[in-house]
Amino acid sequence: MRKVYLDYSATTPLDECVFEAMKPYFTEKFGNANSLHCFGREGANAVDAARRKIAELLKVKPTEIYFTSGGTESDNWALKGIASAYSQKGKRIIVSSIEHAAMLASAEQLEKSGYDVVYLPVNDMGVVLPEYLEKAITDDTSLVSVMAANNEIGTLQPIKELCEIAHRHGALFHTDAVQAMGSVPVDIRGWNVDLLTFSAHKFYGPKGIGALYIKSGIKPDKFVTGGHQERSMRGGTTNVPAVVGMAEALKLALDNLEDNSSKVKELRDYFVKSIEQRVPYVVYNGDRLHRLPQNANFAFEFIEGESLLLRLDMAGIACSSGSACSSGSLDPSHVLLATGLPIEKAHGSIRFSFGKYTTKEDVDYVIEQVVKAVEDLRKLSPLFSEFKGEKQYV
Ligand code: PLP
Repeated sequence: MRKVYLDYSATTPLDECVFEAMKPYFTEKFGNANSLHCFGREGANAVDAARRKIAELLKVKPTEIYFTSGGTESDNWALKGIASAYSQKGKRIIVSSIEHAAMLASAEQLEKSGYDVVYLPVNDMGVVLPEYLEKAITDDTSLVSVMAANNEIGTLQPIKELCEIAHRHGALFHTDAVQAMGSVPVDIRGWNVDLLTFSAHKFYGPKGIGALYIKSGIKPDKFVTGGHQERSMRGGTTNVPAVVGMAEALKLALDNLEDNSSKVKELRDYFVKSIEQRVPYVVYNGDRLHRLPQNANFAFEFIEGESLLLRLDMAGIACSSGSACSSGSLDPSHVLLATGLPIEKAHGSIRFSFGKYTTKEDVDYVIEQVVKAVEDLRKLSPLFSEFKGEKQYV
């Protein structure tokens, strides 16, 4: 059976070149980067080189890059580490209502321990308008965090403007750039953010490795304690092969960003146009223009997203009915609800995310299968029959 992977926003396959770069650090160059002997130095040198490479690619200082176990840890660290270290500034923390669970769950924990957490609304396209932040921010706000790009509907946020507002009120600004990195330009210095999260497995790097950019002079409290790694800011034996892999993956992603993004965008646009032409009663969720090139998210009215997902899975097609982390839960997406999409349409929503290995033939196959699956599922849908005024026989 044909297999088509359209879930690149959940994770990407490791690029072969990245795998080759990592290999020696699993076997002959296995030393602990903190050991003082030559085996250790080999690992430490590789980590130093990777840190310098990442810093150069992102146009920041190597000392501003801290390796973590991924996006979830970086988000947790940024939010909790800043909240506790800067609590004398005030106990108000502002996050957007469409953040990834890594941020929202951390925000909830802070709320329980006495912080005043404000969740910014979004407009119907999923954009946090600067005026929403202007309204919510007070001079006792210590941190504002808004993601650079949303994982479900791909909406890009006006990070530079939002960051500027935060700074005017003396607050720090963090952005979760997990979905944006390697896909659209991420301009750490131009945006002037204080902290930024990214994760290698979203740009053809290994899983379980990410980083938190922390601007010089900013000192969040430690989050993972128990060792002197990462200049005593994050304990734990350094994952040398993964660090090497992340640097290689970032280089490949940024060197080829324009080519890959325009190819992916062309396929995505072709897919969106075809679905809108051939499937009635669909809503294209999110912002048509300001969105990740790889993301398409549709609400198919009168059917359940999960049923469509299973039908497509039977046809060998991998896509997602929410973010990977919340699939498994049947709750409607908090992102779609925040955009004002009614609950029944949120339930019928599916994310298709494209990548550098997607072909036109893959997309044609998926279009045919989606058209057929939606037609079949609507034939079984009491809601659709009711809508068409047909009688129901039980
Ligand atoms: N933030 C966003 C926006 C994400 O999409 C994800 C993963 O889906 C994460 C954070 C978590 O990253 P990781 O899987 O590296 O923990």
